[in-house]
Amino acid sequence: MLKQLYTLFALFLSASAMAAGPLVLEGPAGNTPVSYNNPNISFNIESGSLGPTRDNDAADQLVLDAFALWNNIPTSIINLSQAGDIPVDIDGSNFNSYIPGPANSAIHNDNDCLNPVVYDSDGSIIDAFFGTGASDTVVGFAASSLFIGQSYFTEGFAVINGKTLSRPLTDNELTLIIAHELGHAFGLDHSQANIDNTESFEIDSCDSAPNLAYPLMYPWACRDNQNAHPDDEASLSMLYPVADYYATHGQLSGTFLSAGAPVLGANLWVQDTSTGAAYSIVSDYLKQGTGFFSLMLPQGTYELHANSINDEFFGGSSVGPYASDMNDLSFQAPANNIGQVTFAAGGAPPALLTITSGEATVVVFNKDGSGSITLGEPIADLSPTHDTAAVCTITSSGGGGGSPSLPLLAALFCIPAYRIFSKK
Ligand SMILES: [Zn+2]
Repeated sequence: MLKQLYTLFALFLSASAMAAGPLVLEGPAGNTPVSYNNPNISFNIESGSLGPTRDNDAADQLVLDAFALWNNIPTSIINLSQAGDIPVDIDGSNFNSYIPGPANSAIHNDNDCLNPVVYDSDGSIIDAFFGTGASDTVVGFAASSLFIGQSYFTEGFAVINGKTLSRPLTDNELTLIIAHELGHAFGLDHSQANIDNTESFEIDSCDSAPNLAYPLMYPWACRDNQNAHPDDEASLSMLYPVADYYATHGQLSGTFLSAGAPVLGANLWVQDTSTGAAYSIVSDYLKQGTGFFSLMLPQGTYELHANSINDEFFGGSSVGPYASDMNDLSFQAPANNIGQVTFAAGGAPPALLTITSGEATVVVFNKDGSGSITLGEPIADLSPTHDTAAVCTITSSGGGGGSPSLPLLAALFCIPAYRIFSKK
């Protein structure tokens, strides 16, 4: 069903990316990380319940807690809030009036300047998007729209599964699920971080590391700590940085190569040798065809590693811009079948990388672990600019549940689906 969904939305796809980086790349050249121009983003929550055990007020509290999780990250200017509620119980019978429909290639309902948070009380909306029975494992999805060629989203939505699963979700888990979906809505991709890339959804998902080691933006609902992982903090801050972010953090940039050729779509992660914090990015995450990668990091000493994207992370679970389906470049040579490579830079692994605030450390990282390190390079600001005065404007008069006016052919990008397996 995912493939079918992708086919539908591919009609509107000009360039898409999913990295812990940006979910969507667009802009004039197709490699601008897309964000909301105004980092003060208001969501419009529906008025129904979230399943049989949580009424509207109880569910809203979880959404507010999820807002706080992101708002509390001090290196980002993002500010999520609740605006006017949608005075309707949105369910399987009427969701087409509030969010884009799964079976309609015309993108609509993306021109009303509302960002709905939808409580899918019985899972019927998720089933409508991902196929009958999907709501047994898909716990939510989210997306935002934008005009082709533009660099900022117009508006977005998140759908949260309220159905009672075989193992009912706790408030803590639902808060994290909502936070994950909001992350997609404002532009964050999935992240693999330093988690074992052989984890399998139905066999050992969430089992290879302590829950605390899983990013919130991992493709499966494994984290159970109600805060962001350092990788989530870095991803958010790259997209919505505070003014002094680039002065108070250091940059690690480079290219990931195999026999001189760029490796597109491999997972790269660094680990702080003193705190153990891990941060990841996908090679060529900006789709430049060079194997380029860049991370902003707290000053410190780091090891650098590479592995392949888990071959279950495609489609709605994709990590990075080259995992849209199981045949995409992340799953072909030279990006596939990388168990783990540790950067050695000509010495014995691991090479220790010094990251200094306000400076860039630039590496050439070869797939065999060899390479080079250059310290003290000028830092490059790779983040979008933001305007707190920017307002959403309703761009089409053609409303209603039908087709949008032609100029409104916004790109609704690959819809990430967040999954949980009941064995946990
Ligand atoms: Zn997701």
